[in-house]
Amino acid sequence: TMDYAPAPEDDKAARAWLLQHAGTFDHFIDGQWRAGASGERFAVRAPATGEVLAEVAQGGAADIDAAVAAARAAQPGWLAAGGAHRARHLYALARMVQRHSRLFAVLEALDNGKPIRETRDIDVPLVARHFLHYAGWAQLQETEFAGWAPLGVIGQIVPWNFPLLMLAWKVAPAIALGNCVVLKPAEYTPLTALLFAQLAAQAGLPAGVLNVVTGDGRTGAELVEHRDVDKIAFTGSTEVGRSIRAATAGSGKSLTLELGGKSPFIVFDDADLDGAVEGVVDAIWFNQGQVCCAGSRLLVQEGVEARFVDKLKHRMAQLRVGPSLDKTIDMGAIVDPVQLTRIEALIETGRREGCEIWQPHEVAMPAAGGSYYPPTLVTNVAPSCTLAQEEIFGPVLTTMSFRTPDEAVALANNTRYGLAASVWSETIGRALDIAPRLACGVVWVNATNLFDASVGFGGYRESGYGREGGREGVYEYLKPIGWGKGAVRDAAPASAGPQRA
Ligand code: NAD
Repeated sequence: TMDYAPAPEDDKAARAWLLQHAGTFDHFIDGQWRAGASGERFAVRAPATGEVLAEVAQGGAADIDAAVAAARAAQPGWLAAGGAHRARHLYALARMVQRHSRLFAVLEALDNGKPIRETRDIDVPLVARHFLHYAGWAQLQETEFAGWAPLGVIGQIVPWNFPLLMLAWKVAPAIALGNCVVLKPAEYTPLTALLFAQLAAQAGLPAGVLNVVTGDGRTGAELVEHRDVDKIAFTGSTEVGRSIRAATAGSGKSLTLELGGKSPFIVFDDADLDGAVEGVVDAIWFNQGQVCCAGSRLLVQEGVEARFVDKLKHRMAQLRVGPSLDKTIDMGAIVDPVQLTRIEALIETGRREGCEIWQPHEVAMPAAGGSYYPPTLVTNVAPSCTLAQEEIFGPVLTTMSFRTPDEAVALANNTRYGLAASVWSETIGRALDIAPRLACGVVWVNATNLFDASVGFGGYRESGYGREGGREGVYEYLKPIGWGKGAVRDAAPASAGPQRA
């Protein structure tokens, strides 16, 4: 028999980089590799196979302290160099990402378990786009934001679902505007952040502007509590976000939180049903559903529900689940066995509460070793069910029906979250009537999961606050001159802002 499957993306360059470091990584502080003070390390695995990819340093208070000191020391010079100078560095970082795009895409797919098609076509190009976009803002800083100053030293904590893209969303605006950064990547996926920091130093980024300290939640907590950090920017779970908010209260630190979601995907009876089915695939099976704005709650108008669910089941049966470097797969592996167990436990809770769980028997799971979960459809869901309320962060879609637009809005808004929504209708007036009534930060009409560096992204309610992207994202890393600690330091010498009387 002939095998027509395209060859998997070859991982030679990524393996070579891991080998160069003998699979062992230190922190990246002040422009160089620096061994962790405790000597403690933890294993980073490939979700597709379970193999150990690297041993990475577990950061503690001393490492955070060294990184914050490096960022503090670098910040005045970085600010004084001016916006045009910083813009040149951001353009260089964008080109660096483009030049090494294949290495980044393969390493990210290996480390996270997501399909190489996604890292190659979505994550990595968006990373470059983010640096290009904020290069533009850096260039305009003195004219557009006279009277504003950077915050200083920024602590950034990112999750594992889009490791390099979340780095870009956070690092690009922060350093563009004259801040310096200490970044704490997620413990499951620290590798592309380490590669990025190393290549950025080679591309000429001054030492101390971007520091990476690896480790788990304890390392994040040390960063949050450090007294010389001016702001914490966090993306992750609502629970940890809540604890960070409590820990920073009264400390004078600025804070932005990008947290969980339970976003509705609303299909009206006049929607292009085939288009909407493809939309669902993108909304909930992209990145195995490990997306904060995943369209995880399907709300279908009653008259078309049976037909739509039938079409959806046919489409689900065609999805291919497999190892991340196989270019023909639609879904990869779940990031870690811990997350897999969490998804399985939630599904069991759903069953106990009377939900019906459907998984296409046509979809084969790869052989043992990796953490895989099949595409899953949940029906017979009451609005109060756990599966209708809790963020599952996996390839699981719940379905409910509605009769009227008002009912659709009420169901859509019936969660503690407010991140995103998707509305499908061929009547544009209806879609535009619904959109502003949805309590969320972004609404897509006849589309889903569209991101651009020029558009502010963020949530309401328990999905957090603050915006990343665009001009809104600029203000998250600035403060009015003359306010708060360090006013004198900030006023020197590049700023053309008004003096205080
Ligand atoms: P998490 O919130 O535990 O981790 C996110 C980041 O915060 C990681 O870098 C982690 O090391 C760090 N962290 C953990 N505890 C901390 C603490 N006390 N202080 C400071 N930093 C800390 O999220 P997770 O464990 O990766 O995933 C759990 C759930 O979070 C998911 O199932 C999902 O519901 C949600 N999540 C949301 C997003 C999002 O983009 N909104 C991303 C990932 C996970």
